[in-house]
Parts: sequence; structure tokens; C-alpha cells
Amino acid sequence: MNKKFKRIFKRTLLTVLIIISALVTIILFPQLLFANKIKYKKFNVCSNNKISYDIKIVLDNAMNLVQKSELYDSSYKYNIILCHNSFYNKIDDKLLGIGPAARARLHNVIIKVRINPKSNLAFPTFRKECEVNLTYLLAHEMIHCLQAKKYGIIKFNPFRHPEFWKLEGYPEYISRKPELSSKDYSLTSEIERYVNLENKAADIWIVAKEGGCEFPNYYYKGRLMIEYLIDIKHLSYDQILKDSVSEGTIFKEMINWKNNAGKIEH
Ligand SMILES: [Zn+2]
Repeated sequence: MNKKFKRIFKRTLLTVLIIISALVTIILFPQLLFANKIKYKKFNVCSNNKISYDIKIVLDNAMNLVQKSELYDSSYKYNIILCHNSFYNKIDDKLLGIGPAARARLHNVIIKVRINPKSNLAFPTFRKECEVNLTYLLAHEMIHCLQAKKYGIIKFNPFRHPEFWKLEGYPEYISRKPELSSKDYSLTSEIERYVNLENKAADIWIVAKEGGCEFPNYYYKGRLMIEYLIDIKHLSYDQILKDSVSEGTIFKEMINWKNNAGKIEH
């Protein structure tokens, strides 16, 4: 009886280990599961649907944004996994939870929602149906890949990472660079806009941008704080990560800057 029990236990353990390693392999190396693939410059695009060549323009534009980052690495290669409606997406949802329109994992930029490369849009459905700029979404996730590349997966992973405003604010800042450097843009009015939105919001979810998508407030707040620290205080992202000053202190400082020196536009 005891022997039989041991044998069943060993078999069960082995089966569980095989299932876990299969899931880990699939999660980390998703390209194996997709029927269609195209290679383009530093990108390997995978999908079960036909891949539109319009994606190349979007990838070029996303790369142009990422090149503006101090984390940019010209040798880094990205797998762009377009997995809307796929088996892979279902596993990803089950293991890591539903919500995000995209994720970054090792070299993989995983786009979980429907996209239209021709109109440069992605269509999240999590809280409601809405639209986001596909170039920004890709650039945002590519920066997450580079954060983990530079600082290590131990410091940047779903379970352990810097505070959210530092984690999400920087990819937001880089992916929105063109908008932030346009001549009718003003950081002080953006800060005011954020404070108004935050005051009106019932919880952390706010509609920060065109397209009607709701995001947790630290995306917008974090982007403004990173923008303030880099463009006004002239810190690098590396210095921001190493700095231990609290989020509250920096936010207060930024509000003071807006109320005083911020009146003299930079
Ligand atoms: Zn992110």
C-alpha cells in the first residue's frame, strides 16, 4: 500500500512538473505557438492571423521613440506577439490575470487586444471599449523590455519592481515624447489637468487621454513626475531610480514648481 502510494505520488509530482515547465516555456517563448511570422529589422512579428505589412511603419515609429531613451540598445531584438483571440492569450489571462492591453516579458512585447496597424490603433476592452495609439503602446512595452535588460529581471518583474510611478511613468514619458515637445504643449497646464482629474475621480481609474481608455492614475501622474524630473530638474532615469525621495515629496515639489517658477514657462 505504501509503495503504491509512493508510486502515485511520484507520478503526480512528475506530471505537475511537466505541466509547469510546459507553461513556463510557452509563457516565455510564445513565438513557438504562432503560425505566421515576419522578420523586420530588429523585430520578429508573430500572429495566428495574416500580418499586415502596415505594421512595419508602426514598428519604425515605435523604434524612433525608443531611440530617444537612455535605455536604448541598438542590438536588442524584440518579438512582437499579436495574440488577440489566441490560445496563448487565454493562458496568459489565466496565469497572470486580465486587464492590460499589452505586456512585456523578456524580449516579448505581447499585444493582447485587437489592433489595426493601418489606422495605428489598438482596441482595449477591459473596463470599456476604447482606443489607444498603437505606436505608443508598442514603444511603452519596448521600454519595459529595456528596463529589465538594463537593470535585470530580478529588479523588474511583475512581482518586484520600482514604485509604479517610476515603473510606468518612464515608458509613458518616452512614448509620448513627440506630444510633449510640441510647441503648444505646457507641462504646467498638464499638471493642472491631472490634479483636476484626480480630484474628480472616484477611484484610481481615470480617463487621461483621447480614445476614452481608463488607466490607473499612476500612469499619468508618473509620466508628469518623470517629465518634471528629467526635463526641468535634468535628472536621468538612472538617477531617478536610485533616488530615494518619496513620491509624495516629489509630487509636492512639482506642484510648488507649477505654482511659482512654472509660471515662467520653460
Ligand atoms: Zn507599462
